[in-house]
Amino acid sequence: MNKIEHIGIAVKDITQANSIYTKLLATEPYKTEKVETEAVETSFFKIGESKIELLQATSPESAIFKYIEKRGEGIHHIAFAVENIESEIERLKAEGFQPISEKPKRGADNKLVFFFHPKSANGVLIELCQEI
Ligand code: ZN
Repeated sequence: MNKIEHIGIAVKDITQANSIYTKLLATEPYKTEKVETEAVETSFFKIGESKIELLQATSPESAIFKYIEKRGEGIHHIAFAVENIESEIERLKAEGFQPISEKPKRGADNKLVFFFHPKSANGVLIELCQEI
């Protein structure tokens, strides 16, 4: 693991959240992107070496929609940058972390992403991401 790549925050209204985080960080989002496969709209802010990712559901089927229904808005996941996602996945599986899917997939911001279940990491959804 190299660094915290980003922290993902689940929001109800990304337009409203963009304006809040623009004020907070004194910078505009450097990109916004819809990820159809996850049914989310995202925006990214750079903050030093790390980023903040805001996520709004675009459908009630989205994991973000369900998350907000259950827990309200807030920190959704922490993403770690890795160089070799396959070997990191194998390492964490061997350590007993519970994967959410079979294979890494293409996520927002030109990354391969993979998730481990919050119940294996003290309530925190863990994302691994590798630059494509
Ligand atoms: Zn993320």
